[in-house]
Order: sequence, then structure tokens, then C-alpha cells
Amino acid sequence: MLHSSFENLINTAKKTRPSTDIELIRRAYAFANDAHRNQFRINGEPYINHVVSTAYILLDWQLPTTIVVAGLLHDAPEDTTKTLLDIEHDFGVEIARIVEGETKLDRLKYVGMTRYVENLRKLFLAVAKDVRVVFVKFADRLHNLMTIEVLPPEKKYRIARESLEIYAPIAGRLGMGEIKAQLEDLSFPHVYPDEFKWLMELIKGKYEAKEQELRKEQKILESELHDAHIPYERMYGRTKHIYSLYRKLLKYDRDFSKVYDLVAIRVIVNTIAECYSVLGVIHSQWKPLKGRIKDYIATPKPNGYQSLHTTVFGKDGGIVEFQIRTKGMHEEAEYGIAAHWRYDESGKKVPVHSRRLHWMQELARIQKELEDRKTFVETLEELKIDLFQNRIFIFTPKGDVLDLPEHSTPVDLAYAIHSDIGNQCASAKINGEMVPLDQKLTSGDIVEIIVDKKRKGPSADWLKFVKTRNARNKIKARAKRGVAEWFSSILPKKK
Ligand code: MN
Repeated sequence: MLHSSFENLINTAKKTRPSTDIELIRRAYAFANDAHRNQFRINGEPYINHVVSTAYILLDWQLPTTIVVAGLLHDAPEDTTKTLLDIEHDFGVEIARIVEGETKLDRLKYVGMTRYVENLRKLFLAVAKDVRVVFVKFADRLHNLMTIEVLPPEKKYRIARESLEIYAPIAGRLGMGEIKAQLEDLSFPHVYPDEFKWLMELIKGKYEAKEQELRKEQKILESELHDAHIPYERMYGRTKHIYSLYRKLLKYDRDFSKVYDLVAIRVIVNTIAECYSVLGVIHSQWKPLKGRIKDYIATPKPNGYQSLHTTVFGKDGGIVEFQIRTKGMHEEAEYGIAAHWRYDESGKKVPVHSRRLHWMQELARIQKELEDRKTFVETLEELKIDLFQNRIFIFTPKGDVLDLPEHSTPVDLAYAIHSDIGNQCASAKINGEMVPLDQKLTSGDIVEIIVDKKRKGPSADWLKFVKTRNARNKIKARAKRGVAEWFSSILPKKK
């Protein structure tokens, strides 16, 4: 939906969440209306429409009223007579802090690459400090993208590219799959217009045809589950998002015949046991393709994603993908970290999924470096690898699981376990076989690090192949210390 009226916002709040403090929302609307009176967007409509629509998106994500209110107020301290102090006075410190974070994110005076880097840095900081600020920013950005047509071409391109390259990956890392996909699909036509046209031409009618084909398979599964007395919440055809289809096609040299999940049948159930029961029924009816059964319930993706996926030969010879998950997993997959703020009217932080929490802690840890712009620019490439690259799972012989960036080596693993293990790492075994230390690891490998207690420290050669920032930093630090120690050993002793 492009725009929401205030009446619609209020009615939706009353309907979907009867406990909402409607009076608070009305007060915020009056405040924003007052602040933005006489302000218009480029297309001529009143500015207030933008903040109401932003608030509506946040309500639609079922976030607490405090965040919805912050959405209404998010542009008030910019270019209006209202200040953050006014907001704090009228709405309290918590809402004022969210709006303040929002305002800080907006103030960017840089251009080009510097702007890009600065934006990324600010978003990282915001996520590390209070992720609620980023929810408001995502909603704000989504509405700006929905109404992007009226902007001048360069501005259109800049906003779309920023959304595609910075906002969407962060949404992805926070597990907000649905929001990431929306940001991507709205940006794609403006960043790669020719590619977008090519893709539209390529898929003309294909979604419809596939949906038609799947309807029959869905009917069969429905009756099979009924006969087997396996209850399910919901079953529907989920269509693949355009940009994610585009990425997949690039991976497969634009060979459309390799895309099996243009439309998939999704089954939502109540319990994990039911997930596996449904999978059993599917495999008894359809023959699965080899190597295409993915159990992300037993081994979730690094961003916390959980589901069972299986690809089977359809009754008419086509290929069909099924995705099975519980209601909880579904919420997590679509809204990620935002799902944890849902139904929690106090708006207080609640425990988040441990893997995602790990990523947040990682951000908090590097926050100090982020505050310093120069270091941030220098380490940006490494940070991008650590934070955004696809992760793989590695098992230790004791059964511990560690997640590392793709193409990591035994040395990266050794440093991820402990600095001492890294420093004394001598050789490694993957699934019982001796391998060189620069061997690339693959998800699921069981890796044993063999240490040599007499080893003095890491080899500078390792810098040529390690992937993680952690390993790189520690090897460099040791190298520096080595020189310092050697230097002090040859210096004449003080008397
Ligand atoms: Mn805005």
C-alpha cells in the first residue's frame, strides 16, 4: 500500500491490537501535524502523509506502540520548529531517544564513496546501540522507495542503490527476510533498469503457469495430510521475490531451467514434530531429488533461519519445492529480530535468537572502531567479509559448532576457538584427513586443530590466506610483538 490515512492507522491498530494506547497515537499525530503543517513532498502531497505511512508500516510489522509513535515523530526535529526536547517533554525519554537516533542517521553531508561508507558506519552504530532506530529507518526507507518515482534521476538512483547495498544486507543479517526482499524489489528497477527489463521479459507468464501447476500438487498434499491426521495451520504457494530470483539466475549463468523454486508450496504447522511428519508424507508421495533435502531446523542458517526444504519430482514431471516450518519459525523468517519486539507493549528488549545475538555482540564489539571514521574506512572490506558474507558451519571433534565466513581456513577456525590455539596451530585434520592449513573449509566439516605447544607464534605467511578479521588482527599483533621482543632483546639493558 502506497499511503495510509490516519483513520486507517487508528482503525488497524484497534482491530489488530486492542490493547494499543490510541490516545498516545492521536497525541503524536497532532504533534506531527503541527510540526509539518505547510510542508509538502515533491509530488505536492502534505508531508504528514509520509510519517503516517511510515507509522502504518511499523504497525503492520506488529511492533510496539512506542516504535509506531516514533515513526509518526521521526522527521519532526528536522526542518520544523519542534525539537527533540519538545518530544522528550511530551512523549518521554524513550521515544525521544529513538527519534534522536533516527535524526542522526539522516544527517549525511558526504557524497560518493564517502557517503556510502559513512552511511554504513552510522547504520552499524545504530544497530549496535538500539535496533529499534533501524526498524523506523527501514519503514521510512520503504515508504520513500514506494514514492520514489517523483524524485530527480540522480537522487532516485542514490536512494535505490543505498537501499540495495546497505539497508537490505543489514535487514538480512537481522533475519528480517520479508523486509530485506521488499527493499530489494523496490530498489532493483532503479539500480539496474536494463537487467530488470530483461528479467521481466524472461519471466512473462511463468509465475502464473507455475502457480497453476502447483495448485494440483497442493490439493494432493492437503488430502494426504488429512488422511494421515496431521494438522497444519496454513498451506499456500509462495512466489519468489524478483531480486532474489535475479541473484539466483546470475549464479546459474542465467539458465532459467535451474530455478526450481520460482513458486514453492509452503506448509505452516504448529510443532517441530509436525514439520518432520509433513516431510515424511511428502516423500512417500513424491520422489525427492538427490541432495536437495535441507534440514535448516537441525542446522539453522547463520542468520537464524529455520525450515525444512525439499525438492521433488511433481506428478506432471515438473520440479516442485516444499518448505515446511512452524508458526514461530515463520515469524522469525519474515521479521527476524523485529519478531521479538512483537506483542511486547512495554517495548523493552527481550532475549533474541542466540545466533543473531552473536552478530549484535560482534557489532557492539567493533563499535569503538566504528566511532573512528578513519579506521572504519580502512577495515571496511574486512568488515564486509566478516559481517555480510555467507557463513559456513564447522564442527569441532567435541561437537561444538562455530560459524565462519565462506572460504575460511583451519587457521581462521583455530583463532575463532582461542588465540592460543591459533598461535600454536601446527596442522589440521578435516573429517579425519590431514590437510594443509590453507585448505578452504566447507559447511558441515569436522575440523580438528593440532597444536604444537613449542611453537613460538603464527607464521606471517598465514596472512595470505586467512579470511577472518579476527585471525588477521591476531597474526599481525603477534608479528608486531615479535619484532618488539626481538628489538628489546638486543637493546643494551638499562642499569
Ligand atoms: Mn522520513
